[in-house]
Amino acid sequence: PEKDESAYYFESYDHNDIHETMLKDAVRTDAYRDFIYGNKHLFAGKTVLDIGCGTGILSMFCARAGAARVFAVDNSAILDRARENVLRNGLGDVITCVRGRIEDVVLPGGGGPGGEPVQVDIIVSEWMGYCLLYEAMLPSVLFARDRYLKPGGLLVPSHASMWVAPVSDPEYVAENVDWWREVYGFDMRAMQAGIYTDACMTVMPPESVCGEAYPFRMLDLHTAKVEDLSFETEWRSTLSEKAADGLDGFLVWFDCFFAESRDEVVDAKLTAKEWAAPGRERVAFTTGPYGTPTHWRQGLYLIDKGKAKEIEVGPGKKLEGEIRYSIPKGHARGLNIRLTWGLEGGEKQAQTWLLH
Ligand code: SAH
Repeated sequence: PEKDESAYYFESYDHNDIHETMLKDAVRTDAYRDFIYGNKHLFAGKTVLDIGCGTGILSMFCARAGAARVFAVDNSAILDRARENVLRNGLGDVITCVRGRIEDVVLPGGGGPGGEPVQVDIIVSEWMGYCLLYEAMLPSVLFARDRYLKPGGLLVPSHASMWVAPVSDPEYVAENVDWWREVYGFDMRAMQAGIYTDACMTVMPPESVCGEAYPFRMLDLHTAKVEDLSFETEWRSTLSEKAADGLDGFLVWFDCFFAESRDEVVDAKLTAKEWAAPGRERVAFTTGPYGTPTHWRQGLYLIDKGKAKEIEVGPGKKLEGEIRYSIPKGHARGLNIRLTWGLEGGEKQAQTWLLH
């Protein structure tokens, strides 16, 4: 068969570098560790499925927390390293490593082909991509949830929310857009191609955010459906004094929550920081500009000022619009993000950006 997008996707996880980057992202890896080690009572004696185990790190956390049995599944060649890591740490009797797509594998202990699939108490997975849904791994987790998770079973993490905020950062624009006007005495504006049609993954300083951040989507992973991952919804923001320099674009990021029970409701308006405030003994993390930077950075969507109408922004003004997530045709792991914006009650402008 022809090599499809999916083959390239799994190859991108074959090598050590990407796994090293993820393991060294302490915001990310600490959150899983803190949740798993901090809730040993949830894991003790349980059966766990680790979807996309990579190096096996999350499976090993679960085994150390007392899980009776862990299935560590990954379709990438990294699975061979996971096997070695598991054995070298003496966890071979708890963790079973299986190479394959979670959609295709037959987990040992189930009814076998045609029989009842094995049922697990907990699914742990690190499936999040840029702007949360880029690379489209979540549908695989939802598929496995419906096939393997016992009724009442727990997903780790349990919730994820998506945020958008207006950005004003003339310095960023000067250094990254206008900069190409004259490079060593040459007009290099050709290099600006894509600057207004592609998302730029970058870590923005909190000072660049020029209005309230808006939580435009909360996913409860216990109940989310694949259809929920393409959507259009409203957003709004009251601008701050930082908007005085004009509006340059929009920033998108996500927060991730680790609830101890599937009955817990996470209020969509709460940030990870608020939900896991000191003393609450909860685990959550943000990939946004008000937290420690992560390897996910943030998605910056620059307004094409050559095309967009200038709107009168300023402190206290209210912006509103829609944000749409959709899958580009012929690029199942990509992501299209369309934003509309305008002053409250006023005319709207629209622009679409691609993550590829
Ligand atoms: N759990 C590891 C790695 C996370 S990266 C950690 O936290 O460090 C995501 C991993 O999921 C990659 O190794 C990728 O190969 C794997 N993956 C993605 N989709 C998958 C699928 N459908 N079936 C099996 N593995 C998958």
